[in-house]
Amino acid sequence: MLDIIIVGGGLAGLTAGMYAKRAGLDTLLFEKMFTGGQAATTDLIDNYPGLDEPISGPDFAMKIENHARKFGLEIQYEEIISLELDGRIKKVITEDKVYEAKTVILSMGADAKKLGLDKEDQFRGRGVSYCATCDGAFYKDKDVAVIGGGDTAAEDALFLAQYVNKVYLIHRRDTLRATKIIADRVVEHEKIEKVWDSTVEAILGEGNVTGIRVNNVKTGEKRDIAVDGAFVAIGIQPHSELVKDKVNMSEAGYVLTDENMRTNIPGVFAAGDLRQKPLLQLITAAADGAVSVYTAQKYIIEEFGV
Ligand code: NAP
Repeated sequence: MLDIIIVGGGLAGLTAGMYAKRAGLDTLLFEKMFTGGQAATTDLIDNYPGLDEPISGPDFAMKIENHARKFGLEIQYEEIISLELDGRIKKVITEDKVYEAKTVILSMGADAKKLGLDKEDQFRGRGVSYCATCDGAFYKDKDVAVIGGGDTAAEDALFLAQYVNKVYLIHRRDTLRATKIIADRVVEHEKIEKVWDSTVEAILGEGNVTGIRVNNVKTGEKRDIAVDGAFVAIGIQPHSELVKDKVNMSEAGYVLTDENMRTNIPGVFAAGDLRQKPLLQLITAAADGAVSVYTAQKYIIEEFGV
């Protein structure tokens, strides 16, 4: 039986893995796709302490994984089908096997929200994207829209403005939620046209996106904007389906924990963007990962005596 099973290989999970192995705990991390989570699809990271030069998201993710592996972390690339968390021994079930552990750390992260428009799914990969850093290069010298007003939308607009002809930033209010330093850069950027107080009503086109229809929520005026790409950056959705009705969650689906990363189930902890907290960033994901292992280790000693 393992000491800790970590579910998800984003920054929270990898940090938990590194801390757990460093603490001598028998640990296995499950990842169904690629490690690094949202960091791995971020263009540049420049707000992580110690990185005095910006680093690319994929490079950063690789460094964290290498760091964890240096301490012997084993990563199992396999999808978990279900979790049995109630008993003293936790069971993690995949297609082929049932794994047992004294504790489970949930770190499945979060992903981009959708606008919920007709044809949004149909146009995904044909002009609709949820990852500017992944798909931006396809839009060199073209016109694109970014929808949203948070850090992701602001960073996406700035990133795309380096390559494209023009960026329309569509936001439902007239001030950005993004961090001031980034928001100011967006407001001042001459290649980014700010379309304030507006929501996207429709994505236009047949085979590929040719434009978007926006609605001014103050005046009711509608406007069609010709674009080849629409980058949706309206927030994120926690990946909590696996633990739905198993651990306590917020209405939005974030797992509720105390400040020691404990969920309502003894021996089950949550870390990173999956967890309800005020700031979803790399620095807080890493901190959560470390704290979750500290608490899990205390729990193992108290409950199992080793
Ligand atoms: P966010 O902060 O939740 O912002 C979402 C934005 O989309 C808001 O401006 C919101 O408008 C708008 N929005 C939400 N639903 C909408 C809808 N249905 N239609 C139109 N607009 C909608 O999401 P995020 O920007 O993805 O950021 C998520 C978290 O990651 C945040 O904590 C953020 O700070 C963090 N993050 C940090 C960095 C960084 O530090 N470098 C980079 C990226 C993300 P309202 O403003 O009107 O609510």
